[in-house]
Amino acid sequence: MISVEDPGLVIVGASLAGLTCAQSLRAEGYTKKITLIGAERHLPYNRPPLSKQVLAGKWQAAQTNIDSAEKFAELGLDFFFDEDAQELNIASKEVRTSKRTLAFEDLIIATGASVRRLPGTESMSRVHVLRTIDDALGLREALVGIKCAVVVGAGVLGSEVISALSEYGIHATVIDRMARPQLPLTGGHFASRVNDLFIEHGVVAKYGVEINSVTEQETGITFDLSDGSKVSGEIAVVAIGCIPNVGFLANSGLDISNGVLCDSNGLAAPHIYAAGDVASWHNSITGKSLRLENQTSAIEQGLAVGKFIATGESSPTTHPFFWSEIFGNKILMLGNLEADIPLTIVHGSPSDNRFVAATISNGVTTGIVGWNMPREFRQSRAMMEA
Ligand SMILES: Cc1cc2nc3c(=O)[nH]c(=O)nc-3n(C[C@H](O)[C@H](O)[C@H](O)COP(=O)(O)OP(=O)(O)OC[C@H]3O[C@@H](n4cnc5c(N)ncnc54)[C@H](O)[C@@H]3O)c2cc1C
Repeated sequence: MISVEDPGLVIVGASLAGLTCAQSLRAEGYTKKITLIGAERHLPYNRPPLSKQVLAGKWQAAQTNIDSAEKFAELGLDFFFDEDAQELNIASKEVRTSKRTLAFEDLIIATGASVRRLPGTESMSRVHVLRTIDDALGLREALVGIKCAVVVGAGVLGSEVISALSEYGIHATVIDRMARPQLPLTGGHFASRVNDLFIEHGVVAKYGVEINSVTEQETGITFDLSDGSKVSGEIAVVAIGCIPNVGFLANSGLDISNGVLCDSNGLAAPHIYAAGDVASWHNSITGKSLRLENQTSAIEQGLAVGKFIATGESSPTTHPFFWSEIFGNKILMLGNLEADIPLTIVHGSPSDNRFVAATISNGVTTGIVGWNMPREFRQSRAMMEA
């Protein structure tokens, strides 16, 4: 039975972490009112398919929804979409949104992150970013009939975009200020492997360069680079990382220096929690605060916060985990590969393009990667638990 007198709980951010918190609260027996506020105009959806199945034209938008409308309705939430939180007052336990002021007993901040834009390109119609379903559909449309594109950023998202471009037969040039491609948590161990994939697929890479200026013409976009060269494409995709959405917390008194600083239960202040890309949780395995931008952390933290609020019970700390798919290669990564420790091959062989590798320091496994070997990767996870 849902109590109406109680202000209940407010979740700000209606995406993976926010929805998972709500699901977890209900599953753990929380019966009070839950209000979910989301800045977007959609039911919560998964972002990983945006740069993979959606961009490649294999999925329609609705296939990214996390829950069906019926399952979503079963949670019994008060859902306000197309509405953003603008200010948090912890003393009065109120959050002001673009449309109302809501009182709360407990608040969960699940506002994720926004794309970092390239300064000066914000209003250029040929420069795309990729964070939302609307971004993905707009980019997919822009790919129709073009022959060449520039991708700024050779990180995991940039690499996924490049591999989608290659499926359309679009020639890509990638620009990065770093000296090589980057995959998160891999300590640089796979930079040359990713670069080899670029070369194999005809991608032109410009590493270690700064962008001096960007100009948009009627038919294309040109980047002037610090090495004196110019790079052009019919469109550009900027994939240079994200910034946590903490603007509405500016006067809240919370520590938002790198997202919302929390303990290992997601608690940022009494009755205030955070989960997902916006949250910097204390990780008791590493002893450090970590802000992780991946799907599994958003789910695990959402489940943990819901359980903690509903039952007072903590959840075990886990290792960071992410996956990606680049040029058809399925990459799974658990923990943190140490840059200065050579890889130990646990299964398969890099020359066969199928292997599981780990970094092992003084008998302790710090990270494991599976490259086109998902089953063996799952078997090897026990090495981390040991
Ligand atoms: C294209 C793409 C591909 C990805 N691929 C992978 C992958 O392969 N593997 C992987 O592990 N991870 C991947 N990720 C990362 C993963 O999607 C994120 O870690 C996950 O979405 C985080 O969920 P979240 O709910 O914390 O934040 P978000 O998904 O960012 O959601 C936050 C929500 O809060 C809303 N919001 C923001 N501010 C306010 C406000 N003031 N008021 C109300 N609402 C607000 C936002 O509009 C948004 O809807 C990918 C991300 C992208 C963008």
